[in-house]
Amino acid sequence: MYGFMYRRERLGGRFDEHVRGFLQRDRCSQQEMQSYVDWRLRSVLTLAFDQVPYYRRKWQAAGLTRSDLAAFRQQDLSGLPFTPKEDLRKDPEDFLAGNIAKRNLHRYYSSGSTGTPIQSIYSTDAHRHFFAAREVRSFGWAGSSMKVPRSMLGGRMIVPSAQSRGPVYRYNLAERQVYFTAYHLSPRNVPSYVEGLNRYRPSLLTGYAYSHYLLARLMLDQGLKLDYQPQAIVLSSEKLTPEMKTVIRQAFGARAYEEYGAVEQCALATECEHGSLHVNSDFGIVEILDDEDKPVPPGVDGRLVCTGLINDAQPLIRYDIGDIGAWSENACPCGRKQLPVLKDLVGRLEDAVIGPDGTEMVRFHGIFVGMPNVLEGQIVQQRIDLLRVRVVVTDGFGPEDEKAIRHRITKERLHGMNVEIERVPELERTGRRKFRAVISMLTPEQRSLARANGRS
Ligand SMILES: [Zn+2]
Repeated sequence: MYGFMYRRERLGGRFDEHVRGFLQRDRCSQQEMQSYVDWRLRSVLTLAFDQVPYYRRKWQAAGLTRSDLAAFRQQDLSGLPFTPKEDLRKDPEDFLAGNIAKRNLHRYYSSGSTGTPIQSIYSTDAHRHFFAAREVRSFGWAGSSMKVPRSMLGGRMIVPSAQSRGPVYRYNLAERQVYFTAYHLSPRNVPSYVEGLNRYRPSLLTGYAYSHYLLARLMLDQGLKLDYQPQAIVLSSEKLTPEMKTVIRQAFGARAYEEYGAVEQCALATECEHGSLHVNSDFGIVEILDDEDKPVPPGVDGRLVCTGLINDAQPLIRYDIGDIGAWSENACPCGRKQLPVLKDLVGRLEDAVIGPDGTEMVRFHGIFVGMPNVLEGQIVQQRIDLLRVRVVVTDGFGPEDEKAIRHRITKERLHGMNVEIERVPELERTGRRKFRAVISMLTPEQRSLARANGRS
């Protein structure tokens, strides 16, 4: 029943109308796109001023009036203050538009750039609008659709125990989706993943980039193959490198496409048939800025600041998303000049953690969900059986929080792992100004050894 409601939730209402809009703007001129973006921007800004306490307060304090905002264009955005991620993390309700009925709201959690979760809130229509964008750009450009049988490999837990050997997947008939958990991906469990894929034969594979790469590598190691050919693989959450793409194609017999997004739904970049990562300007405006908040020229790294054009429940304007990127110096041969190309994107920098039994994992933000006393969190694997959890905490942080962190790691995810919790005043940033949520200190030899243990 949940599945049927879910499908209507995403594909009902104005979904088809939103799809037509994205299709039309897929091949429009730069000028047409600019008028559309400016029009959406004005509507988001006036909505935020009228309905959202955070923005009304902040903009009024800066001396901005509603009529200023109603005349805004994209080029005027630099006149607005930034929205730090920390503000959203602290009080997501302060960002909520007052005119949307509570029953139409959906809440999601993301990792955030500080390792601690951010709560994002969407309306039903915004939810459909997001999926319409992905249908046309992410899946459509890859030659597929969310309406075909598909799979998702991600961070939802199916059996909440690290000791469990299965099932590693669950089928949802209404959505025609088979969901694989990334948490049980180990040499021993790979045959179950391949069996699940061959049983339900999803045409479109989606989910974590790193987990697909890992699954692909383990399949090649063990000589396991799919007995059918998927249409496409569309991957997100981690950077998809050329090496990962090659291994994935070898194992699955289909091309992997990169998708960059965030649960905050204020930016979406998708890979076209020529392999360029285009920013979908009609989904969210992306600015790339230097240390003095000035736009960087093409080819130069800067921080991404995003303004979502779709979420009417929790609009985010000039939001510091915490990722680093650069614009491309070259036009893409696909000809979509209205959708600018990212040259390079340093998304979340995370290593994989490997357990004593060979289980490999990325994406640990789930262990900090619902912990308001943890401001920032970082996982460092020091030995094959030792994780150090470094946390920046509030005064309220206590033994119960520590207990919950330990439990989530050892009982739900990595059996046999020792956990040490260390409180630190701050977490250091890397050379490219990125915070690293997961760091592995293991040598390649130690990793190989753990993988070999997992096979025996
Ligand atoms: Zn292109």
